[in-house]
Amino acid sequence: MPFFETVQEILSYYTCPSTCPAICCKIADINMDEKDLEMLRQTPEYKDKADRIESCNEEGEHHYKICPPCPFLESDRCSVYDSRPGLCRMFPFNICNMPDVLLLFPCDMAAGIFKDYVDYSEKILKQPVPAATIDAFEESHSSINTKLNAGLPIPMLLIKINCLLQFKEYLGSGLRFQGNPEIPV
Ligand code: SF4
Ligand code: SF4
Repeated sequence: MPFFETVQEILSYYTCPSTCPAICCKIADINMDEKDLEMLRQTPEYKDKADRIESCNEEGEHHYKICPPCPFLESDRCSVYDSRPGLCRMFPFNICNMPDVLLLFPCDMAAGIFKDYVDYSEKILKQPVPAATIDAFEESHSSINTKLNAGLPIPMLLIKINCLLQFKEYLGSGLRFQGNPEIPV
């Protein structure tokens, strides 16, 4: 994934709040390749679990898949954190079937990213995020637990991949926004 390193650098500016019960690990399918699987197998105490990961062929592509809730999640913490698959290293960003965008899952960490993205769009892109999008994200973020408990789909924000590099540079600049009281985390 050409944008993987950029996403890693973006995420280095944020942390998951300790209060989050690892929602992403309970709802997302984790597709992985042989390299990811090998990383998991290298932790002896988790090798058995890794060996039980489903092998799939979808649309002619071979990969491995963990279905939620992830068996490596223990007491709401990742037990294989340093060996976790590439897709897990992208949370709360998610890959989708549209080639030009990533999805942003509206969890607490994503709320911090979204605040900065709103400011970046206004200051750097000169294309303010529409108020309706801000409202939709806020609604999605504030109702995430209700929707999860009710088994309802959780709308995600679309982030254009071609903005990621510039957004990362913005985060490293002195222009970074320091908070917006209108978008609660
Ligand atoms: S990425 Fe989001 S949902 Fe996953 S643990 Fe962090 S804050 Fe929670
Ligand atoms: S491997 Fe770790 S980070 Fe990935 S879904 Fe499982 S518990 Fe979560």
